[in-house]
Amino acid sequence: MSIHIPRGTADVLPGEVELWQFIEQKSRDLCQRFNYKEIRTPIFEHTELFQRGVGETTDIVEKEMYTFQDKGGRNITLRPEGTAAVVRSFAEHKLFGDPNQPVKLYYIGPMFRYERPQAGRMRQFTQFGVEALGSYDPSIDAEVIALAMGLYEELGIHDLRLEVNSVGCNTCRPVHRDHLVQHLGERREELCADCQSRFDRNPLRILDCKAEKCKEITKQAPNITEHLCDDCSPNFEQVKEHLTRLGIAYHVNPRMVRGLDYYTQTAFEIMAEGFGAITTICGGGRYNGLVESIGGHDSPGIGFAMSIERVLLTLQSQKIELPVKRELDCYVVAVGEQAEKEAVCILNKLRKHGLRADKDYQGRRMRAQFKAADRNQARVTLIIGDDELEKGIAVVRTMATGEQQEVNLNEVVNFIATNMNTIEEEK
Ligand SMILES: [Zn+2]
Ligand SMILES: [Zn+2]
Repeated sequence: MSIHIPRGTADVLPGEVELWQFIEQKSRDLCQRFNYKEIRTPIFEHTELFQRGVGETTDIVEKEMYTFQDKGGRNITLRPEGTAAVVRSFAEHKLFGDPNQPVKLYYIGPMFRYERPQAGRMRQFTQFGVEALGSYDPSIDAEVIALAMGLYEELGIHDLRLEVNSVGCNTCRPVHRDHLVQHLGERREELCADCQSRFDRNPLRILDCKAEKCKEITKQAPNITEHLCDDCSPNFEQVKEHLTRLGIAYHVNPRMVRGLDYYTQTAFEIMAEGFGAITTICGGGRYNGLVESIGGHDSPGIGFAMSIERVLLTLQSQKIELPVKRELDCYVVAVGEQAEKEAVCILNKLRKHGLRADKDYQGRRMRAQFKAADRNQARVTLIIGDDELEKGIAVVRTMATGEQQEVNLNEVVNFIATNMNTIEEEK
């Protein structure tokens, strides 16, 4: 019996992988322009990191983690998200002592959640995320949002909707929480089972429950923005002002909550029209209490994460073709024993010259070699037979025009390299 891929995972094959590479490259390029540096943390961490860093009451920690005991009896979890590990690393390496503050980091890599697989929701998925640690300045909130929006825009994704909110801080959130609990108290029994259990532990999360009944019950519930304190209120105003100055359109969504204590102030989501309904493709926000809860040192932070799978689905549903380069520069067609040997050397020289080049390895006839050149979208073919070899020449054919030229064998690699630049310019 043959073995199949595990449920909720996917192979990325040639043909599609170029799209991944393009998006990853674009993300790296954008991060460089914003001066965010890459950080690579392990795929697995101590389970406790996520219990503390993601939160015991979250669906991720309660239901979705890949957790196991290793052979040394340690509790290990495949990372379900990126922030906790970045924050752990920031604290562990005392990056808060680095004179360059804030410490601006990004990551791209696989994450793991045991969920019911569906479009845009995989058990292994790839996240691109950034974290800026060490600054309270509202302009860094705007910068992080601008970076996320910038990536989508540069990929050509349109009809984006940015929603922002402030979830307050340890001073003002308890006030809101009390108002909320009081407001919902009478109808507690009518809430969905999840929300009834959230009621004592994490009532703010009732506000973003997707159940119709809960939505109806919370319709008139007090908003956090009504209770923001003297620190959080002006902070939120400044973040919005920066966004306006940057020309980034936003909608305030006072129902957006991130129920955990270390999420503070700015919260945001980016949505796009695509694959069915409008879908959240990026989420982020401030977590001024998180570093302390993981590493003991009090440092503010803000970041976002987005899944590359969802970027791809959005591109697909908006019918956007990325300008990925798939074609070969040169395919070497050789006929005859000596010519085939010579082809090996020429091919090597072409590659050393920085060209994308290939040849036949299947002993195909000339016609079939030309077909292979077409399949590889070769821009030129270099043709050598034993006769040409004797005369010290090769034939170069430009595939688009069918134009052919005889070129001295010693100069042919240079000739093709120059030719390639001309084709590039004409494009
Ligand atoms: Zn506050
Ligand atoms: Zn509910």
